[in-house]
Amino acid sequence: MTDDSQAALDGGYVMVIGLEVHAELATRTKMFSGAPNAYGAEPNTNIDPTTLGLPGSLPVLNKRAVELAIRLGIALDCTIQPSVFARKNYFYPDMPKDFQISQYDRPIDVDGHLQLPSGKRIGIERAHLEEDTGKSTHVGGAGRISGADYSLVDYNRAGVPLLEIVSRPDIASAEEARAYAAELRAILVATGVSDGKMEEGSMRVDANVSVHRPGEPLGIRCEIKNLNSLRSLGHAVDYEARRQVAALLAGETIRQETRLWNEQTQTTATMRAKEDADDYRYFTEPDLVPIAPGADWIAQIRASMPVLPAERRARLADAVGVAGGAAESIALLVERGADDLALAVIAAGAPADRALVYIEQYLADVDPSAVVVSDLAALVSMEAGGELTTTQARKVLSIMVDQGGAPAEIAAANGFESVSSDSLAGTIEAVIAANPDEWTRYREGDDAVRGKLTGFFVGQVMRATKGNADGAAVTRMLVARVES
Ligand code: ADP
Ligand code: MG
Repeated sequence: MTDDSQAALDGGYVMVIGLEVHAELATRTKMFSGAPNAYGAEPNTNIDPTTLGLPGSLPVLNKRAVELAIRLGIALDCTIQPSVFARKNYFYPDMPKDFQISQYDRPIDVDGHLQLPSGKRIGIERAHLEEDTGKSTHVGGAGRISGADYSLVDYNRAGVPLLEIVSRPDIASAEEARAYAAELRAILVATGVSDGKMEEGSMRVDANVSVHRPGEPLGIRCEIKNLNSLRSLGHAVDYEARRQVAALLAGETIRQETRLWNEQTQTTATMRAKEDADDYRYFTEPDLVPIAPGADWIAQIRASMPVLPAERRARLADAVGVAGGAAESIALLVERGADDLALAVIAAGAPADRALVYIEQYLADVDPSAVVVSDLAALVSMEAGGELTTTQARKVLSIMVDQGGAPAEIAAANGFESVSSDSLAGTIEAVIAANPDEWTRYREGDDAVRGKLTGFFVGQVMRATKGNADGAAVTRMLVARVES
């Protein structure tokens, strides 16, 4: 709790954060019916009597959703226990039954933890299954229900399977909150539990924030909703902690309340106080039996678990070596599922640092499984060995991606003959002979003058070689020419 990374707040306060993450499960159909679970469809097309809560319709549990909940439970080291569905009663126009089927005091996953890349462990209190609500769109006014001319409702999302993952209040800074959400997303994606797309609402985060002085009991928490990106999560948590400290230092008390993050003003504002919070009148869902997954089923799911992101990062970091600063690239490649490609390309002999740059930057929009490992490794090696300039290598790469083919052949077909150092030296001599004044100024100039004239000479050599020279090599040869 006295970590340096912990944001220092005025008055000796520190922040305490617990996150509730809703993840939409990557099932084909809904939680309790055969209606499709698909994002982006024409409104009210992915519906059926159960989705609409029509009289006489009954829920039938989606086995795949239970399996995905177990997968996440295993990934987070949770105890997987027999669980019970409950009705959570509240009125909301986009929830046609007027109750949500959720899990209450018997959730499926309990008592786990998630390890951040920093090594710190964040406790997981529970993860429970529930169904998503539909979506209202308020037309006219400010897009809020008050002042709107009318409202539209889309039930496509109603009944989509959700897992609510609740952390313990173990998170100590905005940076840790972001790291937790990023790692949880990576785990959700790697295990196939969810696509984790925050921009499509597949993963939604609520942040509980309080402040206290170390050694004193935890403060009163406020829950912030409406966080649609890791950026907003970080900013909202920081803002909220500072707001609470300022209030406390001014002699005010903090009320437990739900607050909304406003992206425009970058502030939080009261949405409702705890006193007006709903009483959900939970009771056991009478139309569903308890779930008691058998030990053999859990063992079977355990055996099918993939390697988790933390281990994949460690593996790639090992292959890359201790090159400082590569940690972010490595995390990104693992998140994109491009780490196996990077491992294979490095194993095939390509220099690791360039291989990471190729895959992270130049192939950012390319499906890693569509890349031919031996071709990419050969190309990266050709560039690293000076046979191709970076510009040429990128042209070869784009042809390779579009049409396929071996890089050496593509380079030859495009006239990217490597300029040997002998012919490069000859070209440089010719350029110097043609520009004697510039060469004198280069030879006798200080660093600033040389810097400018280096550009001039490289340009001349490029023109003479039709762009086939390696600029870095030309620069090296100019320096060597002065010193000889
Ligand atoms: P609610 O029904 O109010 O959403 P939950 O039990 O679902 O309550 O979630 C409570 C969340 O608040 C958890 O993530 C927990 O870690 C967090 N939390 C509890 N106490 C505090 C506190 N004092 N400060 C910050 N977060 C807290
Ligand atoms: Mg909650």
